[in-house]
Amino acid sequence: MNASCRLIRFLAAATAFSVGGLALTSCTGDAAADGEKNGKVDVVTSFYPLQFVAQQIGGEHVEVESLTKPGTEPHDLELSPQQAGRLSDASLVVYLKGLQPAVDEGVQQAEPEHVADASTYAPMEKHSTDVHGEDHGKHDDHGHDHDSAGAGNGGDPHLWLDPLRFAKIAEGVGKELAEADPDHKKDYAKNTETLVERLHSLDKEFKKGLAGKKTDTFITTHAAFGYLADRYGLHQAAVSGIDPESEPSGARMKQLHKIAKADDVDTVFFESSASDKTAKTLARDLRLKTAVLSPLESVKKNEDYFSVMHRNLFSLRTALGAD
Ligand SMILES: [Zn+2]
Repeated sequence: MNASCRLIRFLAAATAFSVGGLALTSCTGDAAADGEKNGKVDVVTSFYPLQFVAQQIGGEHVEVESLTKPGTEPHDLELSPQQAGRLSDASLVVYLKGLQPAVDEGVQQAEPEHVADASTYAPMEKHSTDVHGEDHGKHDDHGHDHDSAGAGNGGDPHLWLDPLRFAKIAEGVGKELAEADPDHKKDYAKNTETLVERLHSLDKEFKKGLAGKKTDTFITTHAAFGYLADRYGLHQAAVSGIDPESEPSGARMKQLHKIAKADDVDTVFFESSASDKTAKTLARDLRLKTAVLSPLESVKKNEDYFSVMHRNLFSLRTALGAD
């Protein structure tokens, strides 16, 4: 709904029945141009986790589309002219500034009526290839290797892999959706609450599930798990950087050999969608197992955020000796 349409509805409500009928007719006329699809709120999201949030909160009132198609790598998404156009005619665009440069640029040009930028609900931090989460309750000064960083400022965009940061994002998206479609704001508030509760339970499951771990360190190809490591007191040692396609240096490989020996690492994780040649070579050289840790940048049919996070927890428990 556009601003003038909202104003008309407001006036209609204020003057009760006198002009209400007239106001409604003038509003239904441009419904299609207004970002409503089959009578539903038209929401465009940039990639899977945000699509999931919009669907969970919007429920039956929304029609949600994702710009990143299943099975494709979101980091280097290119927008087709048609997709760029969708950014301007959607009722609400949900994206994460700093993850996909093409989407950042598209949003800037399209100036959508309602925008939910996930990076504004949970601040990003700068993460290097090694992230050492601190155990809760322990407050020593040992290497805190992350600083706060703004979007596009080299901040780590993988916020959704920490259930509690993801809960903050859910709250922000819920509020923006209520602004885009105030008629259903009660439903959106209720659905947001349910989702946030489920994310808090997931957080408890991770805490409990990893409590008995024998080592803190996990090696992964894609440096996507910095916030997760941070939350649960783990050490993420990534083969390459935030961008899964970047090639690791020889020096980095040597470092990883050392880390694996010193920290009793027995598994190298790779994500199913990216190339895993490096991980396999590393695993073979060190005689380590390989397993999948999903960054949830895309999911398969019949999977969702929670089912994949549960599988990630299971894989971590096995690799860290917590089972
Ligand atoms: Zn990623």
